[in-house]
Amino acid sequence: MNGLQMMERVARGLRGARGVAPCRYDSGEPRSRATRAMVVAVALVAATPAFAEEPKLRLDLLTKRDAKLSASSLSREKLAAFVAVAAPKDNLTKVGDGTLAFVWERNGLRVPLVDRIGRWSDQDARWVSNALDQLPDLYIRKAIRGGMKRIYRDGALPTAPTDHLEKASDREGRGGVAVPAGPWNFVAVGDNLFANEAHCYKVTTHELGHCVQWDISGWATPLTGTNGWTGISWTTGIPTIGLRSWNGFVSNYSRKTHMEDFAECAAWYWLDPDKLLSANPAKFAFMRDRVFEGLVSPASARRDRPENPAPVKPVVERLGDAKDDNYALVKVYGNYFMGPLDGGFNTVRYRGTTALHLPISRTTIWSWVPGISKGSAPVTVTTQDGKSEQIGFTVTKPWWKFW
Ligand SMILES: [Zn+2]
Repeated sequence: MNGLQMMERVARGLRGARGVAPCRYDSGEPRSRATRAMVVAVALVAATPAFAEEPKLRLDLLTKRDAKLSASSLSREKLAAFVAVAAPKDNLTKVGDGTLAFVWERNGLRVPLVDRIGRWSDQDARWVSNALDQLPDLYIRKAIRGGMKRIYRDGALPTAPTDHLEKASDREGRGGVAVPAGPWNFVAVGDNLFANEAHCYKVTTHELGHCVQWDISGWATPLTGTNGWTGISWTTGIPTIGLRSWNGFVSNYSRKTHMEDFAECAAWYWLDPDKLLSANPAKFAFMRDRVFEGLVSPASARRDRPENPAPVKPVVERLGDAKDDNYALVKVYGNYFMGPLDGGFNTVRYRGTTALHLPISRTTIWSWVPGISKGSAPVTVTTQDGKSEQIGFTVTKPWWKFW
């Protein structure tokens, strides 16, 4: 039993024994000094989002106010009333009306938990409720406004109208999916969300992030992107197109699209802001200023997330031919190249001489052996992220014999 639970129990005992009604500070009854102090404290709590999220801090605040009153003037009844206010309110209500299984509510925000392919268990709902409890009103309000009108409980995997556009392997292991756009307006979750409670908190925060982005830029999101955000790492909002650099990301997954990047960074800002700041100060600033409007997460809402990906530069794994003539086509295979529709650039060099090239994908570039003399001509690929190691190649015919 923690301190808070103990105080709750004491309060319950006191109420029972002395017939004290639950605290009502809006009853219009004459207010004692203690009650007045409490009303002020409660008003402060309501006006301070960081405190409003955090039961322990809320209690601390009350205790501080409380300390101004002399201990002797504080009757047991009043103490009981204090404790009743200090105890965290349960924001989750079980409904069980048709498909409406639970409702999460706080400060006028309402999130229905609705059965769809699967059913909400008490534990599922509790974990999602605990996750929402740790997020600030402002973030949840933006997510609801952006399109999170309900959270569906699906089965093994959450389903979205765009599923047919995705490879099955991409959907594997998925815990949640957000479809904020009308007419859908939902977040759906599946079994994988509930692997453990920490995972549920992280993924829930991520899915809300998708809805918050939709709140900012709506249907422009998948086309031109989100002003001030997309341009940091992408040249366009169109998913997967326009990567500017392979670096500056908080996770490998966030390299997928600027939307996954947004949702990941929103979650990291709240759960592990230091890592977001070290991965990309511009993304940190956007989350702080535009999304969270200066709010900083309390220590209790934070979780350690995996380390940022190490910096990457292009890697050449192999060439289509180990040797060839001048002007012959040689395919370069590797990783971290810039694709044909990406931002950034590729340069292919043979023994230091720039070759004509054509990017085919982020792992394949076609190149044409430049007109250099025969012999060893190691190949490198350079992008805005750096220069690859050399890979051996031999030019078999000097260019002057060719003509
Ligand atoms: Zn996502």
